[in-house]
Amino acid sequence: MNKKGILIVLSGFAGSGKGTIIHEVLGRYDNYALSVSATTRAPRKGEVDGVHYFFKSEEEFKEMIAGGELLEYANYVGNYYGTPRRYVKEMLEQGKNVILEIETEGALNIKREYPEAVLVFVMPPSVEEIHNRLVNRGTETDEVIEKRMKKAGFEITVVDRYDYLMINDVLSESVELFNAIVTSQQMSVSRNRDYINDKKKEFEEYLNRKKEN
Ligand code: 5GP
Repeated sequence: MNKKGILIVLSGFAGSGKGTIIHEVLGRYDNYALSVSATTRAPRKGEVDGVHYFFKSEEEFKEMIAGGELLEYANYVGNYYGTPRRYVKEMLEQGKNVILEIETEGALNIKREYPEAVLVFVMPPSVEEIHNRLVNRGTETDEVIEKRMKKAGFEITVVDRYDYLMINDVLSESVELFNAIVTSQQMSVSRNRDYINDKKKEFEEYLNRKKEN
């Protein structure tokens, strides 16, 4: 069967709980890798450089763009965010399913360049819940929360270009559903052409041997 990893893009409104789903997926299954993005956003309390993000100045970020180091990048509410190319490539070649936790513009760019990427959108159970989760997280000012809510209002308009939708209500169920999406993709005929061709050849050889005998 298909040995190469699958590129999975997970997007969702701020407060959708997508980060928690990813954390649980990485803890539960060993065939996933999470890409760490570069950003010009300032670290939040508790965020560690190289773990949550690679924190960059705008100048450093632009150098990464110019050097072709990013698979995609986008500007989100005033800051740049981008996916370093090399790690993703290496992990896919090792057979890991690589998760990119990125916003919609970057996601659609990935889909354009890598049509085989799987785009998953996570939503909380209600719009009110999005706002509540952002407020309860306590990491953002009211102004930034309003900007992120506005952005969410735009992001909902591009969800129909994604492949899968998940409503994140019960976390353990979301984790299993996420893995089910990826597993079913691994079993798809389109990702297993080489395997199928090998089997066709084996059959031909077998039937030829039978004829000879
Ligand atoms: P936050 O500031 O809350 O960590 O992230 C803001 C938004 O940027 C989220 O929707 C997150 O998924 C997205 N994001 C994080 N890393 C990347 C990236 O490498 N590329 C793009 N396009 N978006 C990203």
